[in-house]
Amino acid sequence: MALLLGCIADDFTGGTDLAGMLVKAGMRTIQTIGVPTWPIGDDVDAVVVALKSRTTPAAEAVEESLAALKWLQGAGCRQIYFKYCSTFDSTAKGNIGPVAEALLAALGSDFTIACPAFPVNGRTIYKGHLFVGDGLLSESGMRHHPLTPMTESNLVKVLQAQVQGKVGLVDTAVVSRGAEAIVARFAQLKADGCRFAVTDAISNADLLAIGAACAGMPLVTAGSGVALGLPQNFRKAGLLAEGQVADALPATGGARAVISGSCSVATQGQVAAMREKCPAFNVDPFELAQGKDVAAAALAWAADKLGCEPILIYATAAPEAVKAVQAQLGSEAAGSLVEDCLAKIAQGLVAKGVGQLIVAGGETSGAVVKALGVSGLRIGPEIDPGVPWTTGIGGEAREKPLALALKSGNFGTPDFFLKAWSKLSA
Ligand code: ADP
Repeated sequence: MALLLGCIADDFTGGTDLAGMLVKAGMRTIQTIGVPTWPIGDDVDAVVVALKSRTTPAAEAVEESLAALKWLQGAGCRQIYFKYCSTFDSTAKGNIGPVAEALLAALGSDFTIACPAFPVNGRTIYKGHLFVGDGLLSESGMRHHPLTPMTESNLVKVLQAQVQGKVGLVDTAVVSRGAEAIVARFAQLKADGCRFAVTDAISNADLLAIGAACAGMPLVTAGSGVALGLPQNFRKAGLLAEGQVADALPATGGARAVISGSCSVATQGQVAAMREKCPAFNVDPFELAQGKDVAAAALAWAADKLGCEPILIYATAAPEAVKAVQAQLGSEAAGSLVEDCLAKIAQGLVAKGVGQLIVAGGETSGAVVKALGVSGLRIGPEIDPGVPWTTGIGGEAREKPLALALKSGNFGTPDFFLKAWSKLSA
């Protein structure tokens, strides 16, 4: 069957979050890193093109998003989904509004929703106001965000400041009455000249109703939550098989390794737990700064351990240690020294037969994926919320695909590095 849903995500981990959601709801999904330059197989229902367009200048974000749209349209997608953060991360200049407006125009459409709600993670929208946990968005930590400070919780106002078209509201009284009521309200808003409808959602039932109401809408703009309700529309239309297994990955085999460059609290616990049970090698930024070939040392250390139990190579350190490194080397310089070294180690490990690799850290994952030449990921089973196993697409030709789990800093339970392997078939 042909592609059904084409998604454009404004950052990488947000893209993975959405892709995982689609897989859970029964759609076979691939995430690409930027606009793909390769053909997608025909055993895929949804593609998530992950951009880095959340905080770039609005004109660039628009241009990249339109390029992604063009590719997705060329691939035959029936519906387009623009995915942004559940805290609606943006400024008065964009990029959510300008991108949404440009996508609408390019699709020849005149109406869409805006709904970042994700109730299971505490993001709810009531009367147009976005709540983070028990408080308003503008009272959450997001008000101090360095790039996208969110000081207004009324999303109708936030979005209106970013777009030319008129923004309306589908409030909770309508949403709670279900899909038909929502569709009727869409028609009313359109008749009133609105091009955007901020849509309240305080529960998963609301998300499902909104998803159903968006059947056939050329463009949906939302966080990952609304995606829950979309696969059902395709099933109803006979386009998506009932009961389809969407998270099957090909067997990968090979040795197991964890590379950790994240210093987040959750990762520190995970590194400590794995160090107790498995061989571990510490990458020391000071040695890197002295010009030592730490990557070669790590690979030599790993050589006779691979294939037995999983191994751990980590730069992860406690805050005081990181501060000391940063004070001496500068934080950016230290960051890239460590990232480059870990990426080189990843390359070496894969060349030595590692077939199942966990990488901890958002930036670290970016560096590793780039070094491995991976340009896309097929999304597999979830290990912990927000972190699925995937297999890499692109990169060195291998007999079997490479299994990758890219874990951003604060995700996962303390035993994440130990338990993850059991979710892979081989
Ligand atoms: P997270 O997802 O936890 O934020 P990232 O990989 O995005 O993790 O960011 C962690 C950053 O810290 C990376 O740039 C990494 O290279 C750097 N880093 C890792 N270990 C150390 C260390 N011991 N000292 C200084 N910087 C480090």
